[in-house]
Amino acid sequence: MVSRVIPVEVFDLVIFGGTGDLARRKILPGLYRRFLSGQMTSDSRIIGAARGELSDADFRKMVAESIAEFVPKGRHDPAIIEAFLSRLHYVAIDAKGEGGWDNLKSLMRPDVVRAFYFSVAPSLFGDIAARLNTHGVADAQSRIVVEKPFGRDLASAQALNATLAQQFAESQIYRIDHYLGKETVQNLMAVRFANILFEPLWKSEYIDHVQITVAETVSVEGRGAYYDKSGAMRDMVQNHMMQLLCLIAMEPPYHFDPDAVRDEKLKVIRALDPVRPEDIVRGQYLAGGGQGGYVAHSENPSSKTESYIAMKVNVSNWRWKGTPFYLRTGKRLRARTSEIAITFKEPPHSIFDDAEGWRENVLVIRLQPDEGMNLMVMIKEPGPGGMRLMQVPLDMSFAEALGDEAEDIPDAYERLIMDVIRGNQTLFMRGDEVEAAWAWTDPIINAWEGKGDKPQGYDPGTSGPEDALMLMHRDARRWREIR
Ligand code: NAD
Repeated sequence: MVSRVIPVEVFDLVIFGGTGDLARRKILPGLYRRFLSGQMTSDSRIIGAARGELSDADFRKMVAESIAEFVPKGRHDPAIIEAFLSRLHYVAIDAKGEGGWDNLKSLMRPDVVRAFYFSVAPSLFGDIAARLNTHGVADAQSRIVVEKPFGRDLASAQALNATLAQQFAESQIYRIDHYLGKETVQNLMAVRFANILFEPLWKSEYIDHVQITVAETVSVEGRGAYYDKSGAMRDMVQNHMMQLLCLIAMEPPYHFDPDAVRDEKLKVIRALDPVRPEDIVRGQYLAGGGQGGYVAHSENPSSKTESYIAMKVNVSNWRWKGTPFYLRTGKRLRARTSEIAITFKEPPHSIFDDAEGWRENVLVIRLQPDEGMNLMVMIKEPGPGGMRLMQVPLDMSFAEALGDEAEDIPDAYERLIMDVIRGNQTLFMRGDEVEAAWAWTDPIINAWEGKGDKPQGYDPGTSGPEDALMLMHRDARRWREIR
């Protein structure tokens, strides 16, 4: 069953870039769902701010269309949609100009939480942050939410942090990584720290290795020119996968408290070894299945940007010495799936003759599709065939466990926005964490750029380049199937 909804405080939320793709697909439909659940109360307001000249009515119409398109039909309640739309306003503002700010200021109410979501290109963060203050729109309690990408290397991330720090305190800055808002990702912490069962085994003595996979079937067509400046390492590994790795590898924080959790994650990032070139495989999808390849999609015939990366990462501390973390992510792969798989070691001695049937225990945390967890355990094969072993899953699918109520689970963006209103930064990245992640990433990227490394081609619909299989085989391990 889904836990009781506790309404958040009354707020005025301004979405800069309120007419953009992210706002229309995720932020605004998500806020409607929180309104429908009663978590956003009817005296809160949402103000879209963007460059276009729109009336409140135009903006409401746009949001009504977003709800129609991006909220499942079963959640459409016409009266509630009307009530939600009546909470919306729009102000035309150019982040780089002075017009519109006083209008925005006049809409801000005293004594309610003020939050400003920067759903715009990072190059505008500094302009918006400064004008929020110079025009007196923000107050000392205001929160700002910033989107990825947070820098493209250490220097740019430091510059962005410094720019924001001129206007807002760290306690007011919410750097969003929507992976941290996923139900299963938070459940990972509950599984680790609310059960006695796993934590004693959670170390290299008992864990053979960890695999983190984020596989996508989509190509970069349509946004290839943009993607080509980043690639899988910057787009996925430095942020989302790094966050997942931290949650698996971190020590128990003393409390589920923002800085306690983030301190522990930071220690993990700082304990990451530099990655050896031979432990990295980069790939680019080829043409196939009636679609062009990466090079065509990126509109860059000599592109050396990776649409796939696999790597072996070591966390150098007492807990993890000797347990590698294998990460892989890519576009145009066989299936869309994200999971973390923790593979345990063999029992020290087997009393059974059936070595053939034996498999390792694996704890699989599925982020998508079908969020849930799976613990693979050994049992006796049922029946009269003697003591033969077989592996079965202890399966917990959230959708199954929750039935109809599964639809009420907030998606990552909704949950994180409610955390902003509650003033809880636990699931947001702190500035030093982001910088530490770039400090680890930079030398890896510089090394392949320095020698002009070209990614290996891979066929679409597969699990990636051949060399990625070798990365595991070399260590007498294998990737889990992407399906
Ligand atoms: P978009 O191009 O669809 O929308 C940009 C929005 O910013 C529009 O509302 C536009 O009017 C506004 N804007 C542009 N220049 C402006 C200016 N000078 N002053 C005021 N408003 C201005 O972009 P998007 O896809 O919505 O992405 C927004 C941000 O979120 C980007 O930084 C992007 O990298 C990030 N992001 C997007 C997604 C996604 O799924 N779309 C996912 C993760 C992160």
